[in-house]
Amino acid sequence: MTFTLAIVGRPNVGKSTLFNRLVGRRLALVDDQPGVTRDLREGEARLGDLRFTVIDTAGLEEATDDSLQGRMRRLTERAVEMADICLFMIDARAGVTPTDEVFADILRKKSAHVILAANKAEGSAADAGLIEAYSLGLGEPVRLSAEHGEGLNELYSMLAPLS
Ligand code: GDP
Ligand code: MG
Repeated sequence: MTFTLAIVGRPNVGKSTLFNRLVGRRLALVDDQPGVTRDLREGEARLGDLRFTVIDTAGLEEATDDSLQGRMRRLTERAVEMADICLFMIDARAGVTPTDEVFADILRKKSAHVILAANKAEGSAADAGLIEAYSLGLGEPVRLSAEHGEGLNELYSMLAPLS
């Protein structure tokens, strides 16, 4: 059985970097429905022997401050509805921000299955953020570096039992 994984989190934490790493060149389709869905990118992911669909919540980068909260909420809720599992990404170097807490709240209410990922975790600059991540109440964070390809084996071991 395969599954759909949505990568969610505030802008700039590294969601698209992980999406691109999982999908490589196998970008499947871009939904052209108006509104929220055009900001969801869907691709065919490979991780070891796992094959699954991955959704990147894009398009938040262009939102103004006023519209960002509402857009984030709508996009995230839509991605959660489409997905079996949510990978909630924070930036381990920045630590937990108030915006991350808004996401954690949405996910606690809406998603049955959340994997917390602390990205940009290469090197010791991420250590404090990794400890802080526990305060989100979403369990132990997976230590990731999407850019450097670190932590993917840990991500694999969390996803494999679900496939
Ligand atoms: P998104 O807005 O969440 O999709 O974030 P992006 O994937 O566009 O990445 C935002 C920035 O973070 C870019 O400059 C990336 O190169 C950088 N970035 C992504 N992953 C990592 C990582 O593992 N380590 C570090 N240091 N930077 C990263
Ligand atoms: Mg992005």
